[in-house]
Amino acid sequence: MWGAIEHLGRDGRTGGYLRDAWSPADRELREWFRQEAERRGLDLREDRNGNLWAWWGDPSGRPGVVTGSHLDSVRQGGAFDGPLGVVSAFAALDALRARGAEPARPLGVACFTDEEGARFGVPCVGSRLLTGVLDPDRARGLTDDEGDSLAEVLSRAGRDPGALGRDDETLRHIGVFLELHVEQGRGLVDADAPVGVASAIWPHGRWRFDFRGQANHAGTTRLDDRDDPMLPFARTVLRAREAAERAGVLATFGKVRVSPNNANAVPGLVSAWLDARGGREDAVRALVAELADSSGAEVSAESWTPVVDFDADLRDRLAAVLGGAPALPTGAGHDAGILAAAGVPSAMVFVRNPTGISHSPDEHAETSDCHAGVAALADALEDLCRS
Ligand SMILES: [Zn+2]
Repeated sequence: MWGAIEHLGRDGRTGGYLRDAWSPADRELREWFRQEAERRGLDLREDRNGNLWAWWGDPSGRPGVVTGSHLDSVRQGGAFDGPLGVVSAFAALDALRARGAEPARPLGVACFTDEEGARFGVPCVGSRLLTGVLDPDRARGLTDDEGDSLAEVLSRAGRDPGALGRDDETLRHIGVFLELHVEQGRGLVDADAPVGVASAIWPHGRWRFDFRGQANHAGTTRLDDRDDPMLPFARTVLRAREAAERAGVLATFGKVRVSPNNANAVPGLVSAWLDARGGREDAVRALVAELADSSGAEVSAESWTPVVDFDADLRDRLAAVLGGAPALPTGAGHDAGILAAAGVPSAMVFVRNPTGISHSPDEHAETSDCHAGVAALADALEDLCRS
């Protein structure tokens, strides 16, 4: 399975992945998912929000045990973030069948749409729409770098943008959700363990800062006459780093749009995106408020996810099934976190990442650890499907 998707959306120059939601690469990945479901005789469904579900058994009677992740990537991302969870889900299902397991509950493999938010700026769009925490009107109006709205992009992909929104029927099918994911830090390296379980997801959010000035000629505009928005932006980046160190949280400006973006022009507008997260919500909030205050920019909140503490019983049960796997918190958001916050019992299995590097072409997991992840997932599913 890995070999069938490895090349999709891969930038031959950098080795990084470009798998924006609803891009041609995404379309091919969705088609691959459909074929894998078909090959196994699973019942494939696409919900109102573009999420894919492949069912072994019928979840309309009794809610099922669902596992999966996402297939989209950040721009120039790695191979493992997302796809490892989807490939492992199919592989774990195969392992259960090879063991002759006959699940007492329906078993589903899920692929959530637009988890990374690389194209439209808001992460976990599929799971947020599904659970109703993202307003469908707002979602339809989100625009990509080309100025195309999500509504237009969905229409071109043959989907009905009017159908977006909370989907109780699909939610009723999910009894438990289990997401396997490559670890995006070095917690398991430190713990000397190939797999672990998640304890919590830190509160995190994204904010857009618009710094406005006056676009003008770089050669003829005197320094005194300039209204250059790059300067307050630069000061805000430095202040973010200082404030984050002081507060013991993380703050990142990783995306900037400059207009008109000419080498020989003072910019007229700098739009920059702040990603802030940490163990304590009040500390993250205070940092954003401080930066918003001092920046002079127009600041709009694009997304916010409160702390997610995963279901403790489920986590402990999972850790026990996995032979005492370590539990660790993460600063990364996941669809499992969105579902957990919406009251769906959810848990995560992490697979060791030897360098901790993620959202980069250098993201890696050893094949033996990936196999350990599949075995762990199969054990966990077998246990959860037993009754
Ligand atoms: Zn991911």
